[in-house]
Amino acid sequence: MKLINGFTTAWKGLSLTVKHLFANNSAREITTVSDSNYFKQLEKGTNTIQYPKQQLPVPEIGRYQLDVEMDDCIVCDLCAKVCPVDCIDIEAIKATEAIGQTSDGTTKRLYAAKFDIDMAKCMYCGLCTIVCPTECIVMTNQYDKTVFELSDLVYEFSDMPPEVAAEKRALFDKQQAEKQAAKLAAMQKKEGGA
Ligand code: SF4
Ligand code: SF4
Repeated sequence: MKLINGFTTAWKGLSLTVKHLFANNSAREITTVSDSNYFKQLEKGTNTIQYPKQQLPVPEIGRYQLDVEMDDCIVCDLCAKVCPVDCIDIEAIKATEAIGQTSDGTTKRLYAAKFDIDMAKCMYCGLCTIVCPTECIVMTNQYDKTVFELSDLVYEFSDMPPEVAAEKRALFDKQQAEKQAAKLAAMQKKEGGA
């Protein structure tokens, strides 16, 4: 009985191997997962496409590499706060006055001295894209990013040089000091007049 079972199992394994061996001769068409033929093609064979020369189209709702349109970012920090793995690192500097508008008309009052996203830590949950008030942080269809150094997966979206950031900080501090001095002078004047 054991001998028959052995032969039956070996035959099943062998026929499966032979089936896959010959199935690999059929070419696979490039279709999206939403195509009704997508899974039927997989039944025909186990062959893959010739990546990276050929690439499967990515689904529209796919979650891939993040991108930030900095001109539309108001540096509100919401994306960084909601990120479950803390992979967004933003350093904001208050401006002394409005510094422009985003494409949806929102006034910009903060500079981004730093806006880094560590894609090596990102778990592609998409929460940051949902909370963004100006919809400037988005998931692109880029999925094949390969790097030699892990640190290269930290994407830096701010291009503000450190000396410019220091200048902006100094300007804001100066404005605050002037406001404080004016407030103090007004209070002293009021007390003197009383
Ligand atoms: S997709 Fe999720 S894990 Fe990645 S940066 Fe956005 S909030 Fe963080
Ligand atoms: S939530 Fe949007 S606007 Fe706010 S800091 Fe993040 S990317 Fe910029």
